[in-house]
Amino acid sequence: MWDVLVLGLVVVATGQVELALTVVYFVQAALLVGIVLTSRPKVRATRHDLFERVHRFGGWGLSALFWVGAVLLVDERRGSESLGSALVGTPTVWVLVVTTVSSLVPWMLLRRIPIEVVRPSSHVALVKSGRRTPMAGTTRAISRHPLRQWHSFAVIPTPGQEGFRMAVSRAGDWTGEFIDEPPSQVWVRGVATAGMANYGTVFKRVVYMVTGSGIGPVLAHVLAARVPHRLVWVTRDPVKTYGQELVDEILAAQPDTVIWDTDAKGKPDMVKLAYAAYAESDAEAVICVSNKKVTWSVVHGMERLGIPALGPIWDS
Ligand SMILES: Cc1cc2nc3c(=O)[nH]c(=O)nc-3n(C[C@H](O)[C@H](O)[C@H](O)COP(=O)(O)OP(=O)(O)OC[C@H]3O[C@@H](n4cnc5c(N)ncnc54)[C@H](O)[C@@H]3O)c2cc1C
Repeated sequence: MWDVLVLGLVVVATGQVELALTVVYFVQAALLVGIVLTSRPKVRATRHDLFERVHRFGGWGLSALFWVGAVLLVDERRGSESLGSALVGTPTVWVLVVTTVSSLVPWMLLRRIPIEVVRPSSHVALVKSGRRTPMAGTTRAISRHPLRQWHSFAVIPTPGQEGFRMAVSRAGDWTGEFIDEPPSQVWVRGVATAGMANYGTVFKRVVYMVTGSGIGPVLAHVLAARVPHRLVWVTRDPVKTYGQELVDEILAAQPDTVIWDTDAKGKPDMVKLAYAAYAESDAEAVICVSNKKVTWSVVHGMERLGIPALGPIWDS
């Protein structure tokens, strides 16, 4: 839909501006169409690197071309006024100044931070950083190389302690390599952004339904205990996979946590389990962090029963 609209606008503009500007508009349209096409869920899931590259470099290219286009258009229409004063008097140029500064700010905050990585199993790496303590419930993107892949993970501050942790589970090439050959430093940029589980704060009591490393985005809320809750964690052998220390920490913070070990008991009926936790704990809503299939079935299962339920299907 967007691609068709963009192409339509470019065709309309053809002939009304000079050739150089027409070329800029066509290149911009091509970049926009590329961005829209690689954002489609199927491409984003199967060719994530391509999606990321097209977004980053396509986005930067578009920003530069918006400047080129604005200057060419102002130049075409300025009459006897000087180019400088015509640019200063054009509102579009000021909008471009604001958007360019906003895109540069995260990169101006780019820095490399030392980390410690503990690997309780080959499935997960627990990353620790002693630098700064972000707000509980936020996420942060990290990278091994600032121009290549960036991946977002939930940050888990421990109340009363400096720094934060992150859980990185094996979900593809980048995470696999991170776990097998952990770096001693990573790049971070921008500021930590609020994660989805913050929605829980609008309810009086919630149930967190999480599978595997879905514990990452919810653990900060469990430790910070801002909202009364019941946690249900469905995972492969929790001690073997995530380590005794993490399991003890969760149980100390929330002793009535239900930990379902799928290695010992097999996969549960997630909708039944969510409903039981909801009814027993007198909660107002269910928040699910899992894979797409489980999230859909828990959220729809709850909604069919008239229970408010939230669940993101993308982790960023
Ligand atoms: C908002 C958001 C934030 C996220 N943040 C992080 C993060 O910070 N770090 C991170 O590593 N990942 C994160 N993820 C990824 C996400 O948590 C995992 O992809 C997901 O939870 C699966 O976990 P896993 O990879 O450990 O899978 P697995 O270990 O393969 O599965 C986890 C458990 O779920 C069970 N299970 C799987 N399917 C079913 C089913 N149909 N019924 C019953 N049980 C089932 C399995 O048996 C297993 O015990 C995030 C996801 C979202 C949506």
